[in-house]
Amino acid sequence: MTTYLIKNVSIVDGTSKPRFFSDIEIVEDKITRVGQDLQNENAVLIDGDGLTAAPGFIDVHTHDDTNVIREPECEPKITQGITTVIVGNCGISATPAMLQDVPPDPMNLLGNKEDFKYPTFQDYAQAVEQAQPAVNVAALVGHTTLRNNVMDDLYRPANPQEIAGMREQLKQALKEGALGLSTGLAYASAFDSSSDEVEQLAAELTNQSAIYTTHMRSEFEPILDAMEEAFKVGRINKVPVVISHLKCAGAGNWGRTTETLQLLDETSKEQTVGCDCYPYSASSSTLDLKQVTDEFEIFITWSESCPEHAQKTLQQIADETNQTLLEAAKMLQPAGAVYHNMCAEDVERVLQSKHSVIGSDGLPNDPHPHPRLWGAFPRVLGFYSREKQLFSLEEAVHKMTGKSAQRFNLLNRGVIKAGAFADIVLFDANTIKDVATFSEPKRKAEGIYSVFVNGGLAYQNKNIQSQRYGQFIRRASF
Ligand SMILES: [Zn+2]
Repeated sequence: MTTYLIKNVSIVDGTSKPRFFSDIEIVEDKITRVGQDLQNENAVLIDGDGLTAAPGFIDVHTHDDTNVIREPECEPKITQGITTVIVGNCGISATPAMLQDVPPDPMNLLGNKEDFKYPTFQDYAQAVEQAQPAVNVAALVGHTTLRNNVMDDLYRPANPQEIAGMREQLKQALKEGALGLSTGLAYASAFDSSSDEVEQLAAELTNQSAIYTTHMRSEFEPILDAMEEAFKVGRINKVPVVISHLKCAGAGNWGRTTETLQLLDETSKEQTVGCDCYPYSASSSTLDLKQVTDEFEIFITWSESCPEHAQKTLQQIADETNQTLLEAAKMLQPAGAVYHNMCAEDVERVLQSKHSVIGSDGLPNDPHPHPRLWGAFPRVLGFYSREKQLFSLEEAVHKMTGKSAQRFNLLNRGVIKAGAFADIVLFDANTIKDVATFSEPKRKAEGIYSVFVNGGLAYQNKNIQSQRYGQFIRRASF
């Protein structure tokens, strides 16, 4: 591998400490030295010329499970400086999966039946290693995926044998390096599971340095109860809890992040809890009939039964077809949607919370994806840190790197220091910005110059390099 010397860069090292001017030496896959006036005759010199060097961004919340194998260039990720993705969120993972039929909603976000071909976690890890994507990959095990393996009907609680079956599969996946368990209790395919079912499963995480993440049972009016339910799973099992994409959804719920963040803060004094979030006031997923409302705009990104209605608002479709919103939504199923269901102040408060880290929640299989897929990380740096001054650059980078690595137990990642993996992004702090929009979502961020993954140059001057360097990351206790 090429040895690199990056000269004259302002280093924001991922720990939140103030930036400092220095050089960085990369040998093989590691950062070997950080210091002034470094010399190395064998190194390729990169003149940082006043740019900022930060640890490669860690996207803690993705649905790239099968995409990192099918599209290993990972263009939406690497172009925004992301060097590690965590997959398997919201209860849906590509492994360990044994599908009898088409994937139930929302597992269909990850791909079609033929994409679920990893009956064991080890099968999946090997497939990632073989594909060698541009970014590193670490994975959670999804509760809904486990349910779908052992249950003939997802719309009821699991019985004791089924819970035992799921526990066995989770235990094996943890042995093979899974980061932990995720749930997606708001979705119909997991909504009927009891708290007890989840608590029993999470018992497998105890003393394993593993984590519990959850797309909670509700992000609407009963959100505080949903948070309590999530915290209890962690409390009784002594396991860290991450609330996925913490938000207050629904017009009647706007402004209540004061309450949710207070509860998060109080709970953090008793047990290890945190959240992730994306920097937009619109969410996106499959089209959920329970979320159909005229209180805010719902934009249809795709529809299997009526593809001609994709990329229109639900209201438009209802008007054109002379139906109510709900009738139109039923006609479109299965479908994908962007819901403009949050208020800007809530998004800012969650971003600013000391308990949050950044995750894009991007949906790579959506033909017209929410812009977070291509823009989430530069948006935090450009719009929220530089323009709105919600937090310093150091704090913003910390929320995307060091803090994320710590929380998800990724060893030697997320920091710039000697001995760490050389995952590095070079960007211009004065110009970095997201340019992906809701109408034109597939656009590369601006202001990103180079991205290194495990010491290899993966992206430079807006060009994805042909060589890929991503690794599969197993949980740190292994
Ligand atoms: Zn989710």
